Amino acid sequence: MVHVIDHPLIQHKLTLIRDKETGTKDFRENISEIAGLMAYEITRDVPVNEIRTETPLRRCMTRVLAVDIVLIPILRAGLGMMEGITNLVPTAKVGHVGLYRDHETLEPIDYYAKFPTNVRNATVLVLDPMLATGGSASAAIAMLKREGAGNIRLVCIVGAPEGVRRIENDHPDVEIFLAALDEGLNDKGYIVPGLGDAGDRLYGTR
Ligand code: URA
Repeated sequence: MVHVIDHPLIQHKLTLIRDKETGTKDFRENISEIAGLMAYEITRDVPVNEIRTETPLRRCMTRVLAVDIVLIPILRAGLGMMEGITNLVPTAKVGHVGLYRDHETLEPIDYYAKFPTNVRNATVLVLDPMLATGGSASAAIAMLKREGAGNIRLVCIVGAPEGVRRIENDHPDVEIFLAALDEGLNDKGYIVPGLGDAGDRLYGTR
């Protein structure tokens, strides 16, 4: 299932990162802030435990997170979403997945994967700003499932219908969260209207 989070603060920041005149500093800050705002919504239903707490006045029942939150940024653009979420959830564990696309088969090949030990019982957020064909995200989710992860949410900022269909087909149990669902992909695989190459704009590499 796909959820488009159309909160005005997110949509305002999305306008800024779509603008081709926005430079690296502002692009990076806004990607991070959008990710944080999205995470606030996406974690709304995370389970909590009731505990007894002593305030300076008396004892009362309070709530704490009952599960670990695990973040899995897909290298490299997913890293740009990290800080905004760890600012909100400083105890989040972080794993990393690196994938490249084989030139002949066009299939994603993983070159790096390191996951926290507790993914089985955690709420896992897979992070990648752009959901284009969905190939990398689908492969990353498959890797997490092999590690035992059961509650996986895919968090992207801009998505294409092609990528959404791919994830819904490969992983119908995974909910997809976007700030925008765009028109589609062009012949170079870029999302249109999109925002260009998120990695290059985050790191100033082009
Ligand atoms: N990756 C990007 O960074 N941008 C796109 O438009 C598609 C994939």
